[in-house]
Order: sequence, then C-alpha cells, then structure tokens
Amino acid sequence: MHSKDGSAETSAASRVQDFQIFGEFGEVNPSISDGSTFTFLDPEKLKAIFHEPIPGCHLYSRLENPSTRVLGQALACLEGTPSARATASGMAAIATTLLALCEQGSVIVSDRLVYGGTHALLRNLFPRYGITTRFVDCMDPDAVRQALEEGAVRVLYCESLTNPLLRSPDLALLADLAHARGARFVVDNTFAPMIFAPRQQGADIVIHSLTKFINGMSDCVAGVICADQAFIDELSDASSGTCMLFGPTLDSVRAAAIYKNLHTLPVRLVQHGRNARMWAERLVECGLEVRYPGLPGYPDRAIFERQADPRMGFGGMLTMDAGEEGRAQALMVALQEVKVGFLAVSLGYYRTLFSHPGGSTSSEIPESERLATGLAPGLVRFSVGLDFEIERSWERFEKCLHKAGLIV
Ligand SMILES: *Cc1c(COP(=O)(O)O)cnc(C)c1O
Repeated sequence: MHSKDGSAETSAASRVQDFQIFGEFGEVNPSISDGSTFTFLDPEKLKAIFHEPIPGCHLYSRLENPSTRVLGQALACLEGTPSARATASGMAAIATTLLALCEQGSVIVSDRLVYGGTHALLRNLFPRYGITTRFVDCMDPDAVRQALEEGAVRVLYCESLTNPLLRSPDLALLADLAHARGARFVVDNTFAPMIFAPRQQGADIVIHSLTKFINGMSDCVAGVICADQAFIDELSDASSGTCMLFGPTLDSVRAAAIYKNLHTLPVRLVQHGRNARMWAERLVECGLEVRYPGLPGYPDRAIFERQADPRMGFGGMLTMDAGEEGRAQALMVALQEVKVGFLAVSLGYYRTLFSHPGGSTSSEIPESERLATGLAPGLVRFSVGLDFEIERSWERFEKCLHKAGLIV
C-alpha cells in the first residue's frame, strides 16, 4: 500500500506488533488498572492537571486510566494517528466526535448509507440540538462537492467500506473536497481495520466500533477515536470536552481484554477474508447476486485496490440478494439449523453471523432511501467466520440454498 504522497507504508499489523508495554512487574501484558481515581503527592500538580494534561499522569478514570490509555495508543499505531481515545461503544465514539466538531447551526455532510445507528443519530437526534445533516452519495464527487458548498459545513462523514452495501468511496478525493471547504473528514473504518488506513488517505479522524473485528469475540461493546493530539486533548478538556463531560468511558478490564485480542487481528482478518472469498466465488457460480470486494465484478475494485493493503485480503463481509424478504429469512433459518452460523446482528465474530439489514441494522433508514441506494429487501449480510474447514461449511450452505429455493 502507498500513502497519498507515494511513500511505502509499514503495515498496520507490524505497527501494532512493535507497540510494546510491559506490566508493572514485567508481565508480558500491560497491568490492568484498578482505580477510579489517582493519588497526587503534590497539590500543585493536581491543580495544574485540570488545565493541561501532564505526561504520565492520570486524574480520574471517567476520562482515561492506564488500561484505556494503552488500548488507545495501540489503536493509534493501527491507524497511524498521533493519538487515540478508547470509548464505551462505537456510537459513543461517533457521537462525542461529531458533537465536539459541531455547534448549533453546524451542518454535517454524510454518506447516505451509513450504519443505521449513525443514520438515526444524524437524522433524528442531532436536529434537536440545531445540527443538521445533508445526506449524499459519497460515490458521486459532484454531489459531495455541491453539498459542501452551502452553509456552515463542519464535517464530511463516511464509512470506508459501507454498511451493508460494501461500497468503497475514494477517501483521498473526499479528503481533498472536505479540506477545500474547511471541513473535517471523519471516516468510520469499522468494516475494514488494517485493510484501509483512512488517515494515510487524508482523513482527519478515524473511528472504529471495536465491538466488531478488532475485538472479534462478540463479548463486549467498545469504540475508539483516532486523531491528532490536539483533537484528543480537546475531547479531554475538563471544562468543555465531550469525552470528559458526557463520560463515554470504557472499563479497564474490558480495555485490557480488547488490547490482547487486537494482536490476533491480522491473522483473523486474513482467515475471515479467505473464507469469505471462497463463499463469494461459490455463490457467484450458483448464479446468485453477490457483492464482495475480492470478486472481479466488484463495482469499486479500482478504488479498493488503490486504498487497501493487499496483504490483508478483502475482508470478512459479503452480501447476497435473496430476491425477497421471505427467501432471505428461510435461508437464514436453514443456515442456523445446520450450524453454519447464527442469525444475529453485528460482525467480526469467530463464527459466521448473518442478518437481514432491511429489517434490522438498517431499518432506521427510511424504506424509500434504502431502495434508492440499492439496499434490496431480500439482502442478506454475512460476516464470515474463521471456520477451519470452510469447504465443509460450504457443503451445508449449498444444501440450505436448495432448501430456501435459491438454487435448483
Ligand atoms: C456497529 C457499528 C457501529 C456502532 O458501534 P457500537 O460499538 O455498536 O456502538 C458504527 N459503525 C459501524 C460501521 C458499525 O458496524
């Protein structure tokens, strides 16, 4: 992969591997912080930290403690940003970031197809605080340019690999458009950690839901904001920071667990990608309508290849159009019965998860908008698992396709 200026990049996986913090007694893992508050020997220092961060010093765990700080530092390595702040969920990361960048009267320009929760936040909740959103198709640079032109646009927002349609917007181009209008470019990289490095393409702030691939265990909810030190300090400000004052705090035991899981991400990602690609190819051979970035017919292939680290594969997500909702449901029930995976929202788990976005994770988006963007009523989204014998899982999958009447 190459950065915008053409220089070769160290892989995100290697940057994370080189990040090394020992425990208090030399343990191979960092110590787990066990305090809500921290003692100070010098009252003047306690006074000073309220006004300015002091390196190596912690104040109160609502903002940060050694465990959440270590996780943040490791994720800053992953995204190649100077700093990062771990949060209690992906939505907490998105909401606190956007509220820090906007004020009453601000406008956000957002891709029209984003995660359902993000869409609902922008469409339903933010207008109550005077922050409005213009939804555009981020695959259409002219539409984005036009939307950026009117009013007090503070933020251009998109996902690097969109949920659930797996489109891949041109991040470098969008960064240029945003910066030309003085807006910040915020990218949700949840679907493609280590595959895309939006910061290298010009994004100002990169967000993840750690709940998905990065943690990979579907055992907790967490998020991260990766950005410049100045922005992270702004979030942390004791008198006006959105992280400090809304308190979207990640527990230190969870932070330590996620930190350890992060280190197996590259291996998991390659296996997710290998399995997803195999299923995608087989489904195409069955004559089904499939979208997967590793398929020759993927519409954004050129952009994807320009932005992605080829060592990381094409990711674990694929979609298939079952034609109608009833068929989608019949297929998912059959797949669950034969233990191919679970009918559940979310992604990045070691087992395969499948869901019907139209009736679940994208149901917050109005139906007319879903249809206009190509989110078909029979669309099934797969997060393909780490199955060791993927051929065995495919044999079961194929039987389910017969059973649901999708192949004869
Ligand atoms: C799940 C998800 C989120 C929200 O993350 P939570 O951890 O559930 O709060 C945001 N963006 C995308 C793309 C997601 O898939």
